Amino acid sequence: MHGSVGIFGGTFDPIHLGHLAAASRARQDLGLDRVLLVVANDPWQKSPERTISPAADRLAMVAASVVEIDGVEACDLEVVRGGPSYTIETIEALENAQGVVDPWIIVGADLSLTLDSWERAAELKQRARVAVLSRPGSPLRLPGGWRAVALESDDLDISSSAVRAAVRRGDDIAAMVPAAVIDHLARRTLYA
Ligand code: ATP
Ligand code: MG
Repeated sequence: MHGSVGIFGGTFDPIHLGHLAAASRARQDLGLDRVLLVVANDPWQKSPERTISPAADRLAMVAASVVEIDGVEACDLEVVRGGPSYTIETIEALENAQGVVDPWIIVGADLSLTLDSWERAAELKQRARVAVLSRPGSPLRLPGGWRAVALESDDLDISSSAVRAAVRRGDDIAAMVPAAVIDHLARRTLYA
């Protein structure tokens, strides 16, 4: 399948309304055909610090949450590939399997200055453009040496960490996550 594609990677533990707003905003502002929510199998820059929920749970919540959102899709490439998740390998796979060329990488402002630490960063900056979305609590800076643009998001002050903490406290999370996440957590105990 051809057309312009945005790659919005994440741990999505769990997906929340900030992710969905950011994905739709990026699609609209960049004029993309599709934004892929790419669920990291092993988010290697994070996994030493805390226990990550099973990839199957995180992917199921993403897939169920995007069913009714135009042009936003769940992508299981990294989960199926297994091992540590490198965006450069996902870009190669999308090019080989779907003919995707010159994709956008979409990140929140908290990650924009980490891009140089990503696997094979020198190749990545040749092969993809970067859109940095504003996010409460993080200054909106563009990474030097990358083809990058800044986008104003809806600035929803929501994080997966805050969702997990709310679940642990037994607080209502209906204002933070899509209904599909609440349904999933009713069947699977993930953050208690
Ligand atoms: P955690 O608190 O566990 O780090 P998170 O909310 O940051 O979770 P991630 O899965 O780490 O979610 O992030 C995936 C991507 O989504 C990152 O590029 C991150 O910057 C972006 N992102 C997350 N929340 C928001 C938000 N509220 N607004 C804009 N971008 C966001
Ligand atoms: Mg994060």
